[in-house]
Parts: sequence; structure tokens; C-alpha cells
Amino acid sequence: MKVPLLDLKAQYETIREEVRAAVDTVLESQQFINGPAVRQLEGLVAASCDCAAAVGTSSGTDALICSLMALGIGPGDEVITTPFTFFATVGSIWRVGARPVFVDIEPDTFNIDPEQIEAAVTAKTRAILPVHLYGQTAEMDPILEIAKSHNLHVIEDAAQSIGSSYKGRKAGSMGTVGCLSFFPSKNLGGIGDGGMIVTRDPELAERLARFRNHGAQPKYYHQWVGGNFRLDTVQAAALLVKLRHLDAWSQRRRENASQYTERFSNCRSVTPPTIRKANVSIFNQYVIRVPQRDALRAHLAEQKIGSEVYYPLSLHEQECFASLGHRRGDFPQAEHAAAETLALPVYPELADEQIGFVSDTIQSFFA
Ligand SMILES: *Cc1c(COP(=O)(O)O)cnc(C)c1O
Repeated sequence: MKVPLLDLKAQYETIREEVRAAVDTVLESQQFINGPAVRQLEGLVAASCDCAAAVGTSSGTDALICSLMALGIGPGDEVITTPFTFFATVGSIWRVGARPVFVDIEPDTFNIDPEQIEAAVTAKTRAILPVHLYGQTAEMDPILEIAKSHNLHVIEDAAQSIGSSYKGRKAGSMGTVGCLSFFPSKNLGGIGDGGMIVTRDPELAERLARFRNHGAQPKYYHQWVGGNFRLDTVQAAALLVKLRHLDAWSQRRRENASQYTERFSNCRSVTPPTIRKANVSIFNQYVIRVPQRDALRAHLAEQKIGSEVYYPLSLHEQECFASLGHRRGDFPQAEHAAAETLALPVYPELADEQIGFVSDTIQSFFA
């Protein structure tokens, strides 16, 4: 039985006509930049995240860069973040000229460990950038408290967590800004690249919107230097179609996740993901911790089961960040996670038999 890690074609089957009609509307209008669909999507996403405003961007990466720029973070500044995340989190801090300062992760949720943040704060710290990894938010209350006491911004990297919540509060609504990604493999994925910044602060939203468009206000007059971080109208139109299905899709992912977790309950070699009681995860990924991870992955591939390692090398060990002076052993929990974690197929269209086949194959590997 073939089980891909993600099956976007299966999803497209269910929405083909709606997406085609939406794209066609944009083509007929020829309004590819800042068309009405962009505004409409911003309003709906802001509301779904319990935020006052949203600013569409060209990607999740550009949402992070635009946020850092608009908050005036750059050379000489430090931003505290996790070493166990997708590259863009740390790459964005680097690209605005600031210094990423790493804090190790919690071994069970893989999110930044709030207990180690305070010790990383210096006079240069300007922001904390927690990542809500795999669909589950970081432990936000202590993070917000530390930020408040040191007058720091909190930039939530919610690229993998649109719609997830912490103590009833939506991902992206707790910090100064929240950054979303519409990369096709995210729970809300476009027909190409896209992203969005959400915030409860309407004034900041105005500022972000200006930075998104070269800092211009009015047109051709520039008080600040921004960039071209705009979201295409055609992306917004396709995303409007998909947004209507997002909650149902994320619910299906949660159900698939609990099926796996139940099936793994008598397999001692598999540690299923820990979801904290305060959290509702959207399971962008279902990530287990296992011994002999690479051998298991090869075995799954032989059985035509897709899996992926998110992420095989922590950011503090990446060659491009060598000048930060880190070495192996600096962030042991991130390093263990990089060696032992494996993401399994959890996409909404997954059939029960496929979940059964994946978990049986894993259990027989360890038997
Ligand atoms: C996907 C992702 C991003 C970047 O989003 P893009 O839209 O691909 O630029 C940033 N951070 C995390 C944690 C991500 O998973």
C-alpha cells in the first residue's frame, strides 16, 4: 500500500472547480497586485486568529523579515529563538543583520524551553521569536512574562500553526505579531508561495503594510526602506477557497493523530508526540521519537511509506552560522531531537487503512 507523506492531489480533487473558478476570476480582472481577494483574505484570517488586522506577504519568510524590519530590529540587536526549527526562522533574523541567540528546546514538545530564556537576555536583546513547531504553540505565558519584564517584542513564528491555540488564545494573537506561511505543505497552503502577518495592533499593521511595499506612503514617497513582500491576488483567491475547509482539515489531522497515538500505546520503542493540556494542535506534522530512526525510515521507504526528518541538523550547527561560534553539545535537546524524530503521514485525506498500515509496519520493525 502506497502512503505518501502528503497527498495534495487528493485534496485538490475535492476543490478543483472552486479553485479554478477563483483563479479565473483573477485572470479576467487582470488585477494581479493588491486585488480585492487580498483584502478579503486578510480580514478573514485576522478574524480567525482573533487579531485586529492582517497583512498578506509573499511568503512566511517575508512575513518574518517584514516584521523584524517594521519593528526596527537590525544590526547590533539580538533575537532569542530556537535552534530546532525550519531554516527561515533564523535566516530571517540573520538577513536583517541581527544576531540569533539560541535557547534549547523542551524534549517533549520540541518547542523553545521558556525556563532557559531569561538567562539568554542581554542589554542587546530586542525580541523573543518562539516557533510553534509541528502545529503546537510554545509555552507562551512565561515567554510573554519575560518579554514584558524586559520590554521585548514577541514575534510568533506560527508558520506551522495557523488555527492552533494555547489556553484558548489563538496562535499569532499573543505576541506583538504572528507570522503565517501558506507554503503548499502547510495546513492552509496556496498554489505557490504566500504568507501573512497578524497583529492585534492596527497601527503596527499600517506600518507593516508600508514595509511590505518598499516603505512607500504615498506612492513614490519613502520615509523608510521596506521591500516587495506582497501577496499575489491569485494566491489570495485560491486561499479564500481553501480557508473555508481549514478547520475541517485540521480536525481530520487531529483525528488521524489520535489514531496513531492509540495504536502506538503498546509499542515501547515509539514515543508519540506530547500535546500539552493547554494546547490544541493542528498537527501540521505528526512527529514520533524513535531509536534507529534512519533504519526505520529506510524500512518505511521500502514499503512505499513516506516520512521526513524535520530537521536533521539544528541551526546552531549549520555551516552558514559558524561565525556564531557554536559547537556540538551546546543545545543537547535540539541535537537529540534532530537524531531521533520522524514525521509520519497525517494529512486529512489519509484513509484509516493507511494509518493502520503505517503503524503496523513501524510496530513490526521494532518487534
Ligand atoms: C514554512 C516555515 C517558514 C517559512 O515559510 P515560507 O512560506 O516557506 O517562506 C518559517 N518558519 C517555519 C517554522 C516554517 O515551517
